[in-house]
Amino acid sequence: SVPIAAGTAEVFITASIGIASTSARVTEATPLLSNADAAMYQAKKRGGGSVEVFGEAMRVRVLDRMNTEHSLHRALERSELRLFYQPVVDIKDSRAIGVEALLRWDHPEQGLVTPNRFIPVAEESGLIIPIGAWVLHEACHQLRRWQMKRCGGLQGAVEVNLSARQVDDPEIVATVECVLTETGLSPSDLTLEITESALMNDAASALGVLRGLKDLGVTLAIDDFGTGYSSLSYLQRFPLDILKIDKTFVDELGVAPEGSKIIAAVINLAHALGLQVIAEGVESERQLQELERLGCDFAQGYLFSRPVPAHELVDAFPERIGA
Ligand code: C2E
Ligand code: MG
Ligand code: MG
Repeated sequence: SVPIAAGTAEVFITASIGIASTSARVTEATPLLSNADAAMYQAKKRGGGSVEVFGEAMRVRVLDRMNTEHSLHRALERSELRLFYQPVVDIKDSRAIGVEALLRWDHPEQGLVTPNRFIPVAEESGLIIPIGAWVLHEACHQLRRWQMKRCGGLQGAVEVNLSARQVDDPEIVATVECVLTETGLSPSDLTLEITESALMNDAASALGVLRGLKDLGVTLAIDDFGTGYSSLSYLQRFPLDILKIDKTFVDELGVAPEGSKIIAAVINLAHALGLQVIAEGVESERQLQELERLGCDFAQGYLFSRPVPAHELVDAFPERIGA
């Protein structure tokens, strides 16, 4: 814990310790080491500089994670992944301006699994790279199919979520370009959603990636705004087009007068920087009215539609069929 002098700088180092034990009868070192390793990673996850002991709860978690990773590998091969789509609506005239593609895993035993339960494992294992490429391809292909049929009110864009790991991938710009060429989708019909934390990992490299994507002609959105670092400088620094206000802020609308203040400020800030604003997780008419009053551009949420499979989206917007 004592700082180390490196030239003129002082370097602070923390140690994370994982402890595992085993009975005297077990002579194999590998499982013991891997348990200690898992405990150490847990200690690191808690911020480092701490000690963690491998116990029963961790064993269950590690096994569960390994199982998920194993079956996630197969999910890709066995085509168990699905995309659901949720419309994004123009607050002025209630028309869908696009759809967000949201990943689901049609698990053979567990049924439909939501992304929060498997995306973290996909990210840790690196599987998010092939999965993300599949999502991009499928979403662009689906929008292209809709465009050919000209139905479902989908002259708009498809929004695809990129994970931090994908933003770090040196191939990401090439992957997006390749998907656009393969599917024949115009770059302006693709919006990529990136969270604040993905930009903060390595801001300099993220900036390069975002510029590369922007040069392809795609639209860039910052997702879950307000839940992460909310650094105002990067709103200006990164070539962003859309800001998505997180649901937690929308939830506060109409509850207390202060509830509107943050959203009002964020909308003004975004507009001043030339960004358009989407409010996420809009569930009530009252929230929508308040968002309209505050000058928010677009909204998305259960009030309009839950995320649904592609074929159901057409039913959700019957007035647009054949438009
Ligand atoms: P997100 O991108 O912020 O997506 C919005 C989430 O809010 C979705 O959850 C959506 O179903 C949910 N939502 C929308 N409207 C409402 C509402 O009115 N009320 C409530 N309670 N919830 C609403 P979902 O589909 O479970 O996705 C969760 C997160 O998983 C996404 O958050 C996104 O960060 C991630 N995700 C989803 N699909 C992908 C993907 O293809 N790739 C990556 N990397 N991440 C994905
Ligand atoms: Mg999103
Ligand atoms: Mg979001």
